[in-house]
Amino acid sequence: MKNVILTGDRPTGRLHVGHYVGSLKRRVELQNSGEFDDIYIMIADAQALTDNADNPEKIRQNIIEVALDYLSVGLDPEKTALFVQSQVTELCELSFYYMNLVTVSRLQRNPTVKAEIQMRDFQASIPVGFFTYPISQAADITAFKATAVPVGEDQLPMLEQTREIVRKFNDIYGETLIEPQVLLPGNQACLRLPGTDGKAKMSKSLGNCIYLADTEEEVQKKVMGMFTDPNHLRVEDPGKVEGNPVFTYLDAFCRDEQFAEFCPDYSCLAEMKEHYAKGGLGDVKVKKFLNNVLQSELAPIRGKRKQFEKDIPAVYDILKQGTKKAQETAAQTLHEVREAMKMNYFEDEALIQQHAKKYNNQ
Ligand code: ATP
Ligand code: MG
Repeated sequence: MKNVILTGDRPTGRLHVGHYVGSLKRRVELQNSGEFDDIYIMIADAQALTDNADNPEKIRQNIIEVALDYLSVGLDPEKTALFVQSQVTELCELSFYYMNLVTVSRLQRNPTVKAEIQMRDFQASIPVGFFTYPISQAADITAFKATAVPVGEDQLPMLEQTREIVRKFNDIYGETLIEPQVLLPGNQACLRLPGTDGKAKMSKSLGNCIYLADTEEEVQKKVMGMFTDPNHLRVEDPGKVEGNPVFTYLDAFCRDEQFAEFCPDYSCLAEMKEHYAKGGLGDVKVKKFLNNVLQSELAPIRGKRKQFEKDIPAVYDILKQGTKKAQETAAQTLHEVREAMKMNYFEDEALIQQHAKKYNNQ
């Protein structure tokens, strides 16, 4: 069996540092590990439309932004097919068949969809497309026979749904689809990076993001304005580390050897945390350190982006080539799916002969 990766992002905005630690960084490591036969990374424009139907322009404008972010973090089109979901129409057809394998109540139980419905204030007016997007994600994953899906924690229920669909499909129609494994970030802080406002998740839809393409000044401004422990009013007050997003970001990004360079008063993060918790360490100092840590991670990404921005038609061409490869793979899987579901009427000579016999014998 081949080792295959499929994952992706919604082009609802540029990518942020939550995407980076939750999924992007891992993808690049996996890409460069040489352990995978095929890697597909999808810009999920059709999924993005499920809650942006009235604003296709937003999606259209952000496809190139996401593509630039991909290339700037080190996804390499020589090794990875970068493609656009809507252009692989086979995915719609697969979703349509999978819909028969999932109940409404099963979809209603999906905790991520529940939280997202609440966040978007849909109440009773949930678009059917949005409600069923876990099924379309199952189509995306299985179309490529993905064995590994590197994602953030919020995607766990989608992966579970996909695995259920695969089992049910194979059970009814015979072994055809592959059950994928989820690859979550190893670092606890990266499972779901909080927003700069302290909200549980950094998310494009919440406007609490540090974007990979932010300028040095923008990053600094956002870091210095970050939510911290609201009860840590004076430097000498004891501060809370737990649930304090500044420390969560440090957990996600900083390496102990960076203290020597940026904050030599401490030798490691544990020491800094201890001082903060005891009292006597001000937020400004911690934020300045975080800013340095983030800038050193983001500067090379920013630099690479500038290079790719110089030739935008070439970036569109990369997407076009990646989409061609993705389309071919998805078409092959769809062919197998139709065959398993006995929908290959015109190719099935035995069926035609069977019916011919039935009527000729009458
Ligand atoms: P939207 O608000 O439009 O849903 P989003 O910011 O949630 O956007 P997605 O495109 O839905 O981004 O998610 C893409 C990938 O990034 C998924 O694998 C998701 O788990 C991961 N991801 C998104 N936000 C975070 C985060 N704050 N921390 C860790 N991983 C994240
Ligand atoms: Mg999301």
